[in-house]
Amino acid sequence: MIKRLQILLLVPLAVLLLALLFRSNPSANTSEQATGAAVAVPFSGVPVQPGSFTNADFARHVDQLRKTLPSSDFTVIIQPPFVVIGDESPVSVKEHAEKTIKWAVDKLKQDYFSQDPKQILDIWLFRDSASYEKNTFTLFGEKPGTPYGYYSSAHKALIMNISTGGGTLVHEIVHPFVEANFPACPPWFNEGLGSLYEQSGEVDGHIHGYTNWRLPGLQTAIRAGKVPEFKYLTALDAHGFYNEDKGTNYGQARYLCYYLQQRGLLVKFYREFHAHQKQDPTGYKSLQKTLGLVDMNAFKQKWEKYVLGLQQGFEVDSLPPPDGN
Ligand SMILES: [Zn+2]
Repeated sequence: MIKRLQILLLVPLAVLLLALLFRSNPSANTSEQATGAAVAVPFSGVPVQPGSFTNADFARHVDQLRKTLPSSDFTVIIQPPFVVIGDESPVSVKEHAEKTIKWAVDKLKQDYFSQDPKQILDIWLFRDSASYEKNTFTLFGEKPGTPYGYYSSAHKALIMNISTGGGTLVHEIVHPFVEANFPACPPWFNEGLGSLYEQSGEVDGHIHGYTNWRLPGLQTAIRAGKVPEFKYLTALDAHGFYNEDKGTNYGQARYLCYYLQQRGLLVKFYREFHAHQKQDPTGYKSLQKTLGLVDMNAFKQKWEKYVLGLQQGFEVDSLPPPDGN
Protein backbone atom coordinates (compact mmCIF):
# COMPACT_ATOMS: atom_id res chain seq x y z
CA MET A 1 0.00 0.00 0.00
CA ILE A 2 1.37 3.39 -0.92
CA LYS A 3 1.41 5.72 2.03
CA ARG A 4 -0.24 9.05 1.67
CA LEU A 5 2.21 11.98 1.43
CA GLN A 6 2.56 13.24 4.95
CA ILE A 7 3.81 16.77 5.25
CA LEU A 8 3.65 18.29 8.69
CA LEU A 9 3.25 21.94 7.88
CA LEU A 10 1.19 23.12 10.80
CA VAL A 11 3.79 25.65 11.88
CA PRO A 12 4.32 27.28 8.48
CA LEU A 13 0.55 27.35 7.91
CA ALA A 14 0.10 29.17 11.20
CA VAL A 15 2.85 31.54 10.13
CA LEU A 16 1.21 32.24 6.81
CA LEU A 17 -2.05 32.99 8.57
CA LEU A 18 -0.33 35.27 11.05
CA ALA A 19 1.65 36.87 8.26
CA LEU A 20 -1.59 37.90 6.60
CA LEU A 21 -2.88 39.27 9.90
CA PHE A 22 0.32 41.21 10.56
CA ARG A 23 0.85 42.51 7.06
CA SER A 24 -0.53 45.95 7.85
CA ASN A 25 1.35 46.24 11.11
CA PRO A 26 4.80 47.72 10.44
CA SER A 27 5.87 47.33 14.06
CA ALA A 28 5.45 43.56 14.02
CA ASN A 29 8.61 41.80 15.06
CA THR A 30 10.45 40.68 11.96
CA SER A 31 13.32 38.97 13.68
CA GLU A 32 11.85 36.16 15.71
CA GLN A 33 13.90 33.04 15.55
CA ALA A 34 12.03 29.97 14.47
CA THR A 35 11.61 27.81 17.52
CA GLY A 36 9.14 25.23 16.32
CA ALA A 37 6.34 27.04 18.13
CA ALA A 38 3.92 29.19 16.18
CA VAL A 39 5.50 32.62 16.38
CA ALA A 40 4.07 35.79 14.89
CA VAL A 41 6.46 36.42 12.03
CA PRO A 42 5.59 38.42 8.93
CA PHE A 43 6.16 36.50 5.73
CA SER A 44 8.82 38.99 4.68
CA GLY A 45 10.75 38.50 7.92
CA VAL A 46 14.53 38.52 7.63
CA PRO A 47 16.98 36.63 9.80
CA VAL A 48 18.29 38.66 12.71
CA GLN A 49 21.74 37.10 12.45
CA PRO A 50 23.44 34.61 10.15
CA GLY A 51 22.16 31.16 10.94
CA SER A 52 18.87 32.17 12.46
CA PHE A 53 15.86 31.65 10.26
CA THR A 54 12.27 32.69 10.49
CA ASN A 55 9.38 30.28 10.26
CA ALA A 56 8.67 31.76 6.82
CA ASP A 57 12.22 30.85 5.75
CA PHE A 58 11.55 27.30 6.83
CA ALA A 59 8.22 27.26 4.99
CA ARG A 60 9.89 28.37 1.76
CA HIS A 61 12.65 25.82 2.24
CA VAL A 62 10.10 23.03 2.70
CA ASP A 63 8.20 24.14 -0.42
CA GLN A 64 11.38 23.73 -2.44
CA LEU A 65 12.22 20.49 -0.73
CA ARG A 66 8.84 18.95 -1.54
CA LYS A 67 9.68 19.19 -5.22
CA THR A 68 12.72 16.96 -4.72
CA LEU A 69 11.20 14.21 -2.56
CA PRO A 70 12.02 10.84 -4.11
CA SER A 71 8.60 9.34 -3.27
CA SER A 72 5.35 9.95 -1.44
CA ASP A 73 6.59 7.93 1.55
CA PHE A 74 8.41 10.86 3.10
CA THR A 75 7.34 12.82 6.15
CA VAL A 76 8.76 16.32 6.50
CA ILE A 77 9.11 17.96 9.92
CA ILE A 78 10.53 21.37 10.70
CA GLN A 79 12.80 20.95 13.70
CA PRO A 80 14.90 24.13 13.86
CA PRO A 81 17.63 24.60 12.92
CA PHE A 82 17.00 21.54 10.73
CA VAL A 83 14.35 20.13 8.46
CA VAL A 84 13.86 16.41 9.03
CA ILE A 85 12.75 14.16 6.18
CA GLY A 86 12.17 10.46 6.66
CA ASP A 87 10.50 7.45 5.07
CA GLU A 88 9.73 5.54 8.24
CA SER A 89 6.20 5.96 9.62
CA PRO A 90 5.27 9.58 10.36
CA VAL A 91 5.17 8.70 14.08
CA SER A 92 8.74 7.38 13.96
CA VAL A 93 10.05 10.38 12.04
CA LYS A 94 8.42 12.69 14.57
CA GLU A 95 9.94 10.70 17.41
CA HIS A 96 13.46 11.02 15.96
CA ALA A 97 12.91 14.73 15.38
CA GLU A 98 11.86 15.36 18.97
CA LYS A 99 13.63 12.73 21.06
CA THR A 100 16.95 12.67 19.26
CA ILE A 101 17.39 15.80 17.14
CA LYS A 102 15.72 18.41 19.32
CA TRP A 103 17.22 16.86 22.43
CA ALA A 104 20.76 16.82 21.02
CA VAL A 105 20.49 20.36 19.65
CA ASP A 106 19.21 21.72 22.96
CA LYS A 107 21.83 19.91 25.01
CA LEU A 108 24.76 20.77 22.72
CA LYS A 109 23.73 24.43 22.68
CA GLN A 110 23.42 24.43 26.44
CA ASP A 111 27.10 23.54 26.90
CA TYR A 112 28.91 24.52 23.71
CA PHE A 113 27.29 26.35 20.86
CA SER A 114 25.73 29.80 20.59
CA GLN A 115 25.33 29.89 16.79
CA ASP A 116 23.05 27.79 14.63
CA PRO A 117 24.36 26.54 11.28
CA LYS A 118 24.38 29.38 8.76
CA GLN A 119 22.03 27.60 6.37
CA ILE A 120 18.96 25.48 6.83
CA LEU A 121 20.23 21.91 6.76
CA ASP A 122 18.20 18.84 5.85
CA ILE A 123 18.38 15.68 7.91
CA TRP A 124 17.43 12.70 5.77
CA LEU A 125 16.44 9.66 7.80
CA PHE A 126 16.30 6.68 5.46
CA ARG A 127 14.46 3.69 6.90
CA ASP A 128 16.90 0.95 5.85
CA SER A 129 20.11 0.41 3.95
CA ALA A 130 18.27 -0.09 0.64
CA SER A 131 16.50 3.26 0.96
CA TYR A 132 19.71 4.93 2.21
CA GLU A 133 21.78 3.78 -0.74
CA LYS A 134 19.15 4.23 -3.42
CA ASN A 135 18.00 7.66 -2.30
CA THR A 136 21.48 8.99 -1.56
CA PHE A 137 22.32 8.23 -5.14
CA THR A 138 19.05 9.65 -6.52
CA LEU A 139 19.25 12.86 -4.50
CA PHE A 140 22.97 13.53 -4.33
CA GLY A 141 24.50 11.36 -7.04
CA GLU A 142 26.81 9.65 -4.61
CA LYS A 143 27.38 6.32 -2.91
CA PRO A 144 27.71 6.51 0.87
CA GLY A 145 31.17 5.68 2.17
CA THR A 146 29.71 4.48 5.48
CA PRO A 147 26.73 2.23 6.29
CA TYR A 148 25.59 4.54 9.13
CA GLY A 149 25.34 8.06 7.80
CA TYR A 150 27.31 11.24 7.28
CA TYR A 151 27.22 15.01 7.16
CA SER A 152 27.67 16.61 3.76
CA SER A 153 28.47 20.28 3.99
CA ALA A 154 28.30 20.49 0.18
CA HIS A 155 24.75 19.08 0.07
CA LYS A 156 23.73 20.96 3.21
CA ALA A 157 22.46 17.68 4.55
CA LEU A 158 22.88 14.98 7.15
CA ILE A 159 22.27 11.73 5.32
CA MET A 160 21.44 8.88 7.66
CA ASN A 161 20.56 5.20 7.58
CA ILE A 162 18.39 5.51 10.66
CA SER A 163 17.92 1.73 10.96
CA THR A 164 21.44 1.64 12.43
CA GLY A 165 20.24 3.69 15.43
CA GLY A 166 20.29 7.30 16.58
CA GLY A 167 23.91 7.37 17.78
CA THR A 168 25.45 8.34 14.47
CA LEU A 169 22.74 10.96 14.08
CA VAL A 170 23.85 12.72 17.27
CA HIS A 171 27.50 12.38 16.17
CA GLU A 172 26.71 14.03 12.82
CA ILE A 173 24.64 16.80 14.43
CA VAL A 174 27.80 17.91 16.25
CA HIS A 175 29.62 18.64 12.97
CA PRO A 176 27.50 21.46 11.50
CA PHE A 177 27.47 23.10 14.94
CA VAL A 178 31.26 22.90 15.15
CA GLU A 179 31.42 24.30 11.62
CA ALA A 180 29.22 27.27 12.59
CA ASN A 181 30.83 27.98 15.96
CA PHE A 182 34.42 26.89 15.58
CA PRO A 183 35.22 26.76 11.86
CA ALA A 184 38.96 26.36 12.49
CA CYS A 185 38.42 23.39 14.82
CA PRO A 186 40.93 20.66 13.95
CA PRO A 187 39.57 17.23 13.00
CA TRP A 188 40.66 15.50 16.20
CA PHE A 189 38.38 17.64 18.36
CA ASN A 190 35.54 17.79 15.85
CA GLU A 191 35.53 13.99 15.67
CA GLY A 192 36.35 13.52 19.35
CA LEU A 193 33.28 15.49 20.36
CA GLY A 194 31.07 13.97 17.64
CA SER A 195 32.04 10.43 18.51
CA LEU A 196 31.79 11.06 22.26
CA TYR A 197 28.11 11.84 21.84
CA GLU A 198 27.31 8.98 19.45
CA GLN A 199 26.63 7.04 22.67
CA SER A 200 25.09 9.57 25.00
CA GLY A 201 22.43 10.38 27.50
CA GLU A 202 21.71 12.98 30.13
CA VAL A 203 23.49 13.41 33.45
CA ASP A 204 22.49 16.29 35.74
CA GLY A 205 20.62 17.86 32.83
CA HIS A 206 23.68 17.88 30.54
CA ILE A 207 24.62 15.74 27.56
CA HIS A 208 26.98 12.97 28.63
CA GLY A 209 28.94 10.49 26.51
CA TYR A 210 29.25 6.86 27.58
CA THR A 211 31.81 4.21 26.74
CA ASN A 212 31.03 2.50 23.45
CA TRP A 213 32.16 0.20 20.65
CA ARG A 214 35.27 2.24 19.93
CA LEU A 215 36.79 1.18 23.26
CA PRO A 216 38.04 -2.40 22.59
CA GLY A 217 39.94 -1.38 19.43
CA LEU A 218 41.61 1.49 21.27
CA GLN A 219 42.55 -0.78 24.18
CA THR A 220 44.13 -3.25 21.77
CA ALA A 221 46.11 -0.44 20.14
CA ILE A 222 47.26 0.85 23.55
CA ARG A 223 48.45 -2.63 24.57
CA ALA A 224 50.33 -2.89 21.27
CA GLY A 225 51.94 0.52 21.85
CA LYS A 226 50.39 1.86 18.65
CA VAL A 227 48.65 4.97 19.93
CA PRO A 228 50.57 8.10 18.97
CA GLU A 229 51.43 11.02 21.22
CA PHE A 230 48.75 13.64 21.75
CA LYS A 231 51.01 16.18 20.12
CA TYR A 232 50.83 14.11 16.93
CA LEU A 233 47.06 13.52 17.11
CA THR A 234 46.20 17.15 17.76
CA ALA A 235 48.45 18.39 14.92
CA LEU A 236 46.79 16.21 12.25
CA ASP A 237 45.12 18.07 9.41
CA ALA A 238 42.08 16.64 7.61
CA HIS A 239 44.17 14.53 5.27
CA GLY A 240 46.28 13.14 8.09
CA PHE A 241 43.30 12.47 10.34
CA TYR A 242 40.94 10.92 7.81
CA ASN A 243 43.13 9.48 5.09
CA GLU A 244 46.16 8.30 7.01
CA ASP A 245 44.35 6.97 10.05
CA LYS A 246 45.88 3.72 11.29
CA GLY A 247 42.62 2.98 13.06
CA THR A 248 43.24 4.84 16.30
CA ASN A 249 42.42 8.48 15.53
CA TYR A 250 38.71 8.39 16.32
CA GLY A 251 39.13 6.22 19.39
CA GLN A 252 42.01 8.26 20.79
CA ALA A 253 40.18 11.55 20.19
CA ARG A 254 36.95 10.15 21.66
CA TYR A 255 38.52 8.79 24.81
CA LEU A 256 40.56 11.91 25.36
CA CYS A 257 37.25 13.81 25.32
CA TYR A 258 35.72 11.13 27.54
CA TYR A 259 38.56 11.47 30.05
CA LEU A 260 38.11 15.25 30.12
CA GLN A 261 34.36 14.81 30.56
CA GLN A 262 34.79 12.39 33.46
CA ARG A 263 37.04 14.89 35.20
CA GLY A 264 34.58 17.71 34.62
CA LEU A 265 37.02 19.42 32.27
CA LEU A 266 35.55 18.97 28.80
CA VAL A 267 33.42 22.11 28.58
CA LYS A 268 36.22 24.06 30.25
CA PHE A 269 38.66 22.75 27.64
CA TYR A 270 36.29 23.66 24.78
CA ARG A 271 36.01 27.23 26.04
CA GLU A 272 39.75 27.56 26.63
CA PHE A 273 40.58 26.16 23.21
CA HIS A 274 37.90 28.21 21.44
CA ALA A 275 39.15 31.41 23.08
CA HIS A 276 42.80 30.74 22.19
CA GLN A 277 42.41 29.09 18.79
CA LYS A 278 44.55 31.73 17.03
CA GLN A 279 47.57 31.19 19.31
CA ASP A 280 46.92 27.48 19.67
CA PRO A 281 45.28 26.11 16.48
CA THR A 282 45.79 22.44 17.42
CA GLY A 283 44.44 22.76 20.96
CA TYR A 284 47.53 21.09 22.39
CA LYS A 285 48.51 24.00 24.63
CA SER A 286 44.94 24.45 25.80
CA LEU A 287 44.88 20.75 26.58
CA GLN A 288 48.05 21.05 28.66
CA LYS A 289 46.64 24.08 30.44
CA THR A 290 43.29 22.44 31.14
CA LEU A 291 44.96 19.30 32.47
CA GLY A 292 47.32 21.35 34.59
CA LEU A 293 50.06 19.13 33.21
CA VAL A 294 53.35 20.06 31.62
CA ASP A 295 54.65 16.55 31.04
CA MET A 296 52.39 15.15 28.35
CA ASN A 297 54.27 11.86 28.24
CA ALA A 298 53.35 11.25 31.84
CA PHE A 299 49.79 12.25 31.04
CA LYS A 300 49.64 9.81 28.15
CA GLN A 301 50.73 6.95 30.42
CA LYS A 302 48.10 7.90 32.93
CA TRP A 303 45.42 8.23 30.26
CA GLU A 304 46.33 4.86 28.71
CA LYS A 305 46.08 3.17 32.10
CA TYR A 306 42.72 4.84 32.61
CA VAL A 307 41.42 3.74 29.21
CA LEU A 308 42.60 0.17 29.80
CA GLY A 309 40.55 0.15 33.01
CA LEU A 310 37.34 1.18 31.25
CA GLN A 311 34.65 -1.30 30.34
CA GLN A 312 32.17 -0.90 27.56
CA GLY A 313 28.78 -0.13 29.05
CA PHE A 314 30.09 0.76 32.51
CA GLU A 315 30.71 4.16 33.99
CA VAL A 316 33.93 4.64 35.91
CA ASP A 317 33.63 7.76 37.97
CA SER A 318 36.04 6.94 40.73
CA LEU A 319 38.88 9.13 39.49
CA PRO A 320 40.53 11.38 42.02
CA PRO A 321 40.30 15.11 41.37
CA PRO A 322 42.89 16.57 38.97
CA ASP A 323 46.21 16.60 40.78
CA GLY A 324 48.22 18.75 38.42
CA ASN A 325 51.04 16.31 37.75
ZN1 LIG B 1 32.31 12.64 12.41
